[in-house]
This record gives sequence, C-alpha cells and structure tokens, in this order.
Amino acid sequence: MTHHDPRAGLTSDQVASLLLDSAPYLSCDECFERLDAYAEAVLADPRHTDVPLQVHLSACGVCAQEARSLVELLALDG
Ligand SMILES: [Zn+2]
Repeated sequence: MTHHDPRAGLTSDQVASLLLDSAPYLSCDECFERLDAYAEAVLADPRHTDVPLQVHLSACGVCAQEARSLVELLALDG
C-alpha cells in the first residue's frame, strides 16, 4: 500500500505548478514577516528554500528588492 505523506514535502511537480502561478502565494505583509528568518537561513545555508516566499518574491518586485537588501545587510554584518 502506498500512502503519500503530505509532510514529506512538495514534489517537483507541485513546486513547478506553484512557480507557474503568478499570483503571490503570500501577502506582502506575510512575506515581510518571514523575510528576516528567510535571509538568515539563506546566509546560513545557500540551498535553503522557502517555496511560498520565493513564489512571492518572483512575483513581487518590492519584496524581492527588500529581500536582496536584507541579505546584503546581514552579509555585511556577519
Ligand atoms: Zn510583496
């Protein structure tokens, strides 16, 4: 019997369909709330991914710019 465990993570198909959806998955407020933790996680592990956040960043130039400056700030700090 095969049972798909939803906690096992997204399949690449699911990720692809999320990325194809141009509608932001998170609101900008939710995105901003997560940016600090995301930037720190990316600096600690460049392979870190946060799909909902990255979908939002790919669709929202304002938050993408904010994320970039945050990562640069943290990088200078470290
Ligand atoms: Zn946004």
